[in-house]
Amino acid sequence: MPIVSLFLITIFEYGASSLLDFATVKLRLNIRGKLRPELIELCSNLDYPCIENDKTLDLISRVKTNPEEWVYKVFNDLISLTVLVMKVGLILGILAYNVWWAVLIIIAILIPFSKLSIISGRVNYEANRQVTKQQRKYLYFGKVLSSRDYVEERVLFQYGNRINEMWLDNYEIARKYQLKVEKKWFIRMKSSGFMTAGFCIIILFLLLAPTLNGVISIGLYVSFIGIIFELIDLLSWDLTNKIDAMTQSKEAVKDLNSFLELERIEGANIKSTAPLKFESLAFRNVKFKYPNGSCNVLQDVTFEMKAGKHYAFVGENGSGKTTIIKLIIGLYRGYEGEILLNGKSLKDYKLADINATFSNVFQDFAKYSMSIRDNIEIGDINAVETMTDEKLHQIVEDINLKEQIEKLDKGLDTQLGKINESGLDISGGQWQKIAIARTMVSSAPVRILDEPTSALDPISESEVYHNFQRISKEYTTIFVTHRLASVKEADEIFVLEGGTIIERGSHKELIDKGEKYCKMYETQKGWYV
Ligand code: ADP
Repeated sequence: MPIVSLFLITIFEYGASSLLDFATVKLRLNIRGKLRPELIELCSNLDYPCIENDKTLDLISRVKTNPEEWVYKVFNDLISLTVLVMKVGLILGILAYNVWWAVLIIIAILIPFSKLSIISGRVNYEANRQVTKQQRKYLYFGKVLSSRDYVEERVLFQYGNRINEMWLDNYEIARKYQLKVEKKWFIRMKSSGFMTAGFCIIILFLLLAPTLNGVISIGLYVSFIGIIFELIDLLSWDLTNKIDAMTQSKEAVKDLNSFLELERIEGANIKSTAPLKFESLAFRNVKFKYPNGSCNVLQDVTFEMKAGKHYAFVGENGSGKTTIIKLIIGLYRGYEGEILLNGKSLKDYKLADINATFSNVFQDFAKYSMSIRDNIEIGDINAVETMTDEKLHQIVEDINLKEQIEKLDKGLDTQLGKINESGLDISGGQWQKIAIARTMVSSAPVRILDEPTSALDPISESEVYHNFQRISKEYTTIFVTHRLASVKEADEIFVLEGGTIIERGSHKELIDKGEKYCKMYETQKGWYV
């Protein structure tokens, strides 16, 4: 019987640990499968100002690095801590039954050391927070050194060594910081372990007297030695270590909670219903300060736009043109004054409805490493499945890309970008046309061009704006530029300076007025000869 029992126990032990390994892998994968997609979706819903904020960026980067590990660790640490506490409790119980004062001494030692482990866990996680800041920098330099996107400039400027040094500097700061914290942690944990061990051995010595007096039998004393040494093992390392790990995981979960509490855009990623019928857009005494800015970048901006007309914002760099566009498309809601879309406050609209009303080509438009078709189609994400080739061909014809695309073997299905070998690298001007095509595919009634042409020479920019105006005849358009010749055809031009509109009117009216616009126009004339 005993041999059979031993055999069964051995099989169970072996089987149980393999089963546990299997369950752990499955649990991890399950957590990953559920958590990652959810986190990515939550990230895509984050309110725009959150993404611009350094602290939130660090938080996002911490949360996105192995979130499943932390969640799994909390669960795992909780179980092993419970097992440990039960073990220690059992041993203390046996001791208390025989020598109660020894248990009092052990508990008195245990309380401050557990506290120390909790503090140590917090310090460690805080160090982890500091390291992510540095990590963001060196990961960026690593990307500059290895990514295909930077290859031309890397070869041209031969800056590899310089960036490598910058990478190394940041990496070293993070590494040294982490090493320092880990050294401190090791010394703290080990010294508290040694002290616990010392106290337990003193207890063994104290127990010698009652043993010699015959109060405790020799047999019991010998078994105490075994128990106390097991206790030393548990208290000096395992318990403190687990409390420390548990505190770190708790801090990580706190981060996860802070991330979940970040402001989200209500209704982001929700498909809008049919686009709104655009009637008017009005700014009434709008003042705006960026969340991380120190003063207002827009002061008392008031204007009105009507459906079907063409408008332009002009002014020097930094005068607030792009900020107005960002407010129009609902990226920031913390402004003073009123922004009215069809007479109703913009704040009362769902983001999906605002997105369906305005389509925008930004100054730093994105270049997606996907096919030409996908690059264009995502401009109207609601209609991707129903988008016809005729519509796409019409758009590429309108933006003068038809001939170039026809020359490609795979036509609209040609892969762009540098993430795979077959990816076609196209010129800056062609990328910009693709970005404009994205706006045109959208059924949004208002089309905005926010200086996507700033890399072009003035004459080419003027041509792009003219062409865009031609193909957007039935739409309301808003142009943003600092080059005045591009916007001559606009129905109304708003001239911005220092965050306010200083002049408004048609090109002719503004020229006749002979003030700022006229002077700028005269100065810029030389660009077009
Ligand atoms: P423009 O489009 O006319 O060149 P912007 O609207 O981009 O000007 O910028 C107006 C002012 O707002 C500038 O002084 C700029 O430095 C500041 N600004 C722009 N973006 C931000 C931001 N995200 N955070 C803080 N300040 C900003």
